[in-house]
Amino acid sequence: MEHSDTEERFVSHAPGYWPEAADEQWHDWKWQLKNRVTTLAGLEKHLTITSGERAGVLLAGTKLALAVTPHYFNLIDRSDPSCPIRRQVIPSIEEGYDSPYDMSDPCGEDASMPVPGLVHRYPDRVLFLVTDRCASYCRYCTRSRVVSGVGEQEMHLDFEQAFAYLEKHKEVRDVLLSGGDALVLSDDKLEGLLSRLRAIRHIEFLRIGTRVPIFLPQRITPQLCAMLKKYHPLWMSVHVNHPRELTTEVRNALGRLADAGIPLGNQSVLLSGVNDNVATMKELVHKLLLCRVRPYYLYQCDLIRGSSHLRTSVAKGLEIIEGLRGFTTGYAVPQFVIDAPGGGGKVPLNPGYVVYHDKEKVVIRNFEGRIFEYPEPGAAHAVTRHEELLPA
Ligand SMILES: *Cc1c(COP(=O)(O)O)cnc(C)c1O
Repeated sequence: MEHSDTEERFVSHAPGYWPEAADEQWHDWKWQLKNRVTTLAGLEKHLTITSGERAGVLLAGTKLALAVTPHYFNLIDRSDPSCPIRRQVIPSIEEGYDSPYDMSDPCGEDASMPVPGLVHRYPDRVLFLVTDRCASYCRYCTRSRVVSGVGEQEMHLDFEQAFAYLEKHKEVRDVLLSGGDALVLSDDKLEGLLSRLRAIRHIEFLRIGTRVPIFLPQRITPQLCAMLKKYHPLWMSVHVNHPRELTTEVRNALGRLADAGIPLGNQSVLLSGVNDNVATMKELVHKLLLCRVRPYYLYQCDLIRGSSHLRTSVAKGLEIIEGLRGFTTGYAVPQFVIDAPGGGGKVPLNPGYVVYHDKEKVVIRNFEGRIFEYPEPGAAHAVTRHEELLPA
């Protein structure tokens, strides 16, 4: 049964700025990729841009390319200069400003690459970069040094070397495909990778980190889903930052993935002027649950070069978690993390629910701010109580 109340929260913005596109073109992911907005002229055809954005587009040509699919571009509110969708994908002059803390490789990935494209940071899992291209480019991309083909470094890929490393390293049980975005590869190319990984006996768990279902929902074809489901257990992490990104088309694409048995998680990045308030995040996580997506991580924005205008305080992230935990479904609450600068990996941050803790007891605070005490097993008074229960 369809519930109209929740239906109304998902809208389609098609064809929007592309009234001339035929239906079958619009629904063709290759048409979407071919018709991306990638130039100043293309941008100005649809939007009145500011001088800061114009300068940003010129900068983008040597840092991180401009590219936005028609589907995602349509989510931009023309009348709102601080539109949260616009801030994520339209370059700005502020990208030319490097704060003293900015880094080109904020998570220290290059130093943890035993072979090109494979980041082995944690004991039992690896990040496998399989392409340097995405459907659209996020202005705060943590891998902007190598992504989109115009930045300071080239992404070196050598799949045979990566497979040889994985075959040798029997401790690796989890492989995360990322890039770039693995879902911009053709079905055949992707299947070649997945089947090769599945042939390695000690690899148990495969996952794909992707923003394609959001930028390019047309890519999630029934054929793609039928192919993916042959490689289970296969999980997917998508990347949604603002509730407006969950359109009718995106919800349907996520539904096709969920129907193929793929458990879906979401990784949001906390961004100034995009999602840095409890109300927006609450609407986002509720809409994600309606799309059968479990909010997984909320990331503090990495110290990527030229992203200081998009970063928020760490306190803001804690405030958002505090505003969700207890007030809404536990499944809707992501884990807030900082990917530690310099290569420490993801570190969880939690609001201070532990008020006091020693060998005897832990004093805790609930979501309403009320204080409770839990005795530790070894606590003197707990032992006394236990002995009182024994028969005399
Ligand atoms: C994020 C990440 C992973 C996966 O971490 P999980 O917490 O298991 O999701 C693995 N390797 C690298 C290098 C990562 O950055």
